[in-house]
Amino acid sequence: NDPALRNGRRGGLGDRPDGARCHLHCSFPAARVLMSDACLFCRIVGGAIPAALVASNDHAIAFRDLHPQAPSHVLVIPRRHVASLAEAIDAAELGALLLLAAEVARSEGLSETGYRVVANTGDDGGQTVHHLHLHVLGGRAMHWPPG
Ligand code: AMP
Ligand code: ZN
Repeated sequence: NDPALRNGRRGGLGDRPDGARCHLHCSFPAARVLMSDACLFCRIVGGAIPAALVASNDHAIAFRDLHPQAPSHVLVIPRRHVASLAEAIDAAELGALLLLAAEVARSEGLSETGYRVVANTGDDGGQTVHHLHLHVLGGRAMHWPPG
C-alpha cells in the first residue's frame, strides 16, 4: 500500500504538473494496482523511460510512437496498468482515454482531414505492448480493410 506506487513514480509523466492526483475514481480498489516495473508503458508513465509527451489528463497520457506509421502517430495510454481493452473495466478511465485521443487529434491538426484511432488487442489484434493503448494516426489517407 505504498502511496508512491499508487499513481506511478513522482516526477514522471504520470504526475500532473500541479502535483494533484485524481481522487475521484482512483479510490476504487482495483485502481490500486497501478504500475508494473516489467511493463514498458508503466515505465514511461513513471518517467523511467523517456517519451515525447503530447498531452495528458487525470487518467491518461499521450506520447509519440517511437516507430511512426503515419506523419502523425501518437499513443494514448491509461496511467494505471491495464493489460488491454479486454481487461478494461473502468468507464471513466476509458472515456478519458478516448477524449484525450480526440484532443490529441485536434492539437495535431487532424480534426478537419480525419484520422484513425486503433486499439490492437491480443494476439490476433497484433498487440505487442501489453498495456492498453490507443494509436492516433493521421496526416495521410488510411486504408480499409486494415492489414
Ligand atoms: P501495439 O503493436 O499495438 O502493441 O503497439 C505498440 C506500439 O508501441 C508500437 O507502435 C511501437 O512502435 C510503440 N513503442 C514501442 N516502444 C516504444 C517507446 N519506448 N516509445 C514510444 N513508442 C513505443
Ligand atoms: Zn503497464
